[in-house]
Order: sequence, then C-alpha cells, then structure tokens
Amino acid sequence: MDGNAPDPKYWEKMRLVAEVLKAVEGPIYIATHVDPDGDAIGSSLGLYRALKALGKQAYWVAEPPRFLRFLPKEEEYSDPVEKLPVGATLVALDSAEASRVVGVPVEGFVINIDHHGTNPRFGHIAVVDPSKAATAQMVKDLIDLLGVEWTAEIATPVLTGILTDTGNFRFANTTPEVLRVAAELVGYGVKLAELTDRLQFRPPSYFRLMGQVLSTVAFHFGGLLVTAHLPEDAKREEEDSDDFVGLIRYVEGSVVSAFLRKREEGVKVSIRSRGGVSAQNIAVKLGGGGHVPAAGATLEGVDLEEAYRRLLEAVAEELRRAGYL
Ligand code: AMP
Ligand code: MN
Ligand code: MN
Repeated sequence: MDGNAPDPKYWEKMRLVAEVLKAVEGPIYIATHVDPDGDAIGSSLGLYRALKALGKQAYWVAEPPRFLRFLPKEEEYSDPVEKLPVGATLVALDSAEASRVVGVPVEGFVINIDHHGTNPRFGHIAVVDPSKAATAQMVKDLIDLLGVEWTAEIATPVLTGILTDTGNFRFANTTPEVLRVAAELVGYGVKLAELTDRLQFRPPSYFRLMGQVLSTVAFHFGGLLVTAHLPEDAKREEEDSDDFVGLIRYVEGSVVSAFLRKREEGVKVSIRSRGGVSAQNIAVKLGGGGHVPAAGATLEGVDLEEAYRRLLEAVAEELRRAGYL
C-alpha cells in the first residue's frame, strides 16, 4: 500500500468519528505530538473548543511553544496524565506515530486523525489522509460534521494549523480546497493579518541565535544539499529552537535542506526537499518519518558529527534514486 495515497474512506471514517464523539459521555482527551507545531496546537485546540461547545467533558493536553502561547486561554490547559480513566476516549492529532503522542498514554478508545503518510494507522479509528494539507483541515471537516456553530474562537486555531503547515499558502499542499476552507474560516471572524503577524513573533534571543545558526551553513554534493546546525556552545534559551530549516531551504540550486540540533536524547534533524527528492525517504532511512517535502527524525545517542555522517549517507542515496547523482 502506498502510505501517501489519500484515504478512500475519508468521509465515511470522519462521519464515524463525529458520531462516536457525539455519543461519548465520558472524558475525551485531546493530545498531539511532541515538539508541537502550529498544526498540532491549532488542530487540537480547535477540536477541544468545538467539543466544549457541544458540552463534552473534554481535556486539552498540550504544551505549546512560546510563539503559539497566545492562542489558548489559561483555563483551557489540562495537566499531562499518566493513566487515562476507564472508558476514556483519546483523540490523537497530527501525530505520525503513537510514540510521538505526548502528555497522555495512548490507551482507551483511540481516534487517530493525521495527514502523515508514514503514520502506521494506529488506534481504533484511524483517519489518515496525506492528501490533506494539515490535520487542521481535517478537523475543519470534523467540526462541520459535529454540527458545532463556527465562531472566531474555534476558527482561529483551525486556520493557524492550515497557515503554518502550508507556509501561509505557499507550499504544494495549498489546493483550491485549502483556499476555500481558509476563506470560509476567515468568514467566521478570524483576523487574518493580525494572526499571520502574531505567528511570526519571536523573542530577541531567537534573532541572536539565528546569526549563530547561519554561520554554520554548509553546502554538500555541489550545493544540492544545504545544512546548518545549532552550535553546541550557542547561548540559547529554552524557547529558541525553531524552523531554521525554513530559512536555509531557499539557497539557489539546493534540492534538500537539513537543520540539526543536539538534544539530550540525540540529534533532531529537520529535512525539507523539492525537485523530485523526498525528505520523507531520507527521514525514514534515519528512523523518522513525515511528509514527502517535509520530514524529520531523531537520531538517538549520537553526536553532531555522527548525525552529519548518517544524514549525508541517506541524502546521497536519495539523490541517486532521484537521478541527481
Ligand atoms: P519538523 O522538521 O520537526 O518540522 O518535521 C517535519 C515533519 O515531519 C512534520 O510533519 C513532523 O510531524 C514530521 N516528523 C518530524 N520528526 C518525525 C519523526 N521522528 N517521526 C515521524 N514524523 C516526524
Ligand atoms: Mn505537526
Ligand atoms: Mn501537520
């Protein structure tokens, strides 16, 4: 089976999810992936608000990064839990693997809503459709099926997920359908210019760090691959890690870009690609996953040098497959 193919039973499954959620009387936990991005936070917070509007006993378990903390209100946060109560329902959003779900154990009745082709379709109901630009786009459909009345409070996080996963409507996943959905959401009162502006805010330390990261830019395979990393001695604050790969991917002539950062557990690699090269293939070779143009992996127990070695090997293989080498 081609994991990247659209789900032919998308609407059937989504209707089932809506029926299940409408019928549930017990607690519904809504969780998303580790290192949450705009789609993770936006899709989960949007669904949480819709379920609360339905009067459900819903819990939103997430730790948004600083740049997304303007979205939730203080009282919307729930603490992480180690064990779900008996009879609980879990909705995992934007999570490419069960092991990437953070803050709650993957147990109880599990609903997996995601758009990563590498998702193993875990859970009792798995609606995984890689043709969707964002999990938030799927949540938009689900909220329609739940029959919840749209408000700016619900539409804002949902549009946030679509904006961030499409690079503000610039990536190839920006279909006419995505633009129609976005237009509809704006019609519910989202302040679009304010939202896109707010999403780019970063602390001053981030901009100092950017200088240090850019000083590590390197070119490989005659410029087909561009890399950068977080220098190990970089002065950084907890909040600083961000989408630096989105900056370096625009080097002329490059078809793959990768950003590496050392963490306690190993080295996290973010990969982006174009021109028939698959970031997904590279990430899978490194033990990770994601989408064809944007993917990632965490190389456990290695240092930066070893991570670079493995990355270059995996990229070379993919460049050969795609006919560049
Ligand atoms: P990132 O580089 O973290 O922005 O990730 C790019 C895309 O790949 C996102 O859609 C992630 O959810 C996905 N991704 C990143 N790391 C992994 C991983 N270890 N396993 C599966 N998917 C991943
Ligand atoms: Mn995500
Ligand atoms: Mn996503």
